[in-house]
Amino acid sequence: MRKALTPFLKGQRVIVVGGGRAGLVAGRDLGARGADVQLLEARARLGGRVCSIDDADFSDAPIELGGEFIDGEHAAIRSLCRDLKLTLVPVLKDGFGLSWELDPYALGGYTFFPPDFRPEWRSELSRSFGRIAFAGDHTSRYWHGYMNGAVESGHRAARDIEMMKLMELPSAPA
Ligand SMILES: Cc1cc2nc3c(=O)[nH]c(=O)nc-3n(C[C@H](O)[C@H](O)[C@H](O)COP(=O)(O)OP(=O)(O)OC[C@H]3O[C@@H](n4cnc5c(N)ncnc54)[C@H](O)[C@@H]3O)c2cc1C
Repeated sequence: MRKALTPFLKGQRVIVVGGGRAGLVAGRDLGARGADVQLLEARARLGGRVCSIDDADFSDAPIELGGEFIDGEHAAIRSLCRDLKLTLVPVLKDGFGLSWELDPYALGGYTFFPPDFRPEWRSELSRSFGRIAFAGDHTSRYWHGYMNGAVESGHRAARDIEMMKLMELPSAPA
């Protein structure tokens, strides 16, 4: 269980753009810090690249169209699942390897930086600008392309917003 957050953002309006994992986590954290959060999502559903559908003609189990598997070391999303009291279902005992480029539906990785992208630019992607903080799996230093990276980045963006507010407070008299 995550420690309760201090409501430093009470009375502050914050707009979160995008209701994928990262935006939802940022919104949740900001709300827990007391902010008045408005979430704007372009699609008619939340979840972004995580999307479960039910199709009884095809399968009794829900069908995942995007993010689904959580590795052992994905601590941020595991912690979120514990908070939300979601039960994870072990699916593999011995691990596995999937060659995305051989998958006839994916025809390549489900996410990638293009060949000319330089690793040292990664930290720039997460840097806040003025009163704007950025989240999303692509801003994660180690877990870009994973739900874990999205969750981590949502927590980080909420902390960045809190920090912006704290920096605006008048400093204590010497
Ligand atoms: C086929 C597939 C399989 C995957 N499998 C796994 C897996 O097994 N395990 C794993 O960990 N990860 C997996 N992933 C990756 C995982 O789904 C993503 O890393 C994660 O969901 C990204 O979350 P996000 O919030 O960063 O971005 P997104 O989920 O892309 O969310 C961004 C949201 O912002 C909205 N948006 C964008 N622009 C605007 C705008 N201008 N105004 C308003 N809204 C906007 C979008 O509609 C979207 O809802 C998979 C992805 C795919 C596609």
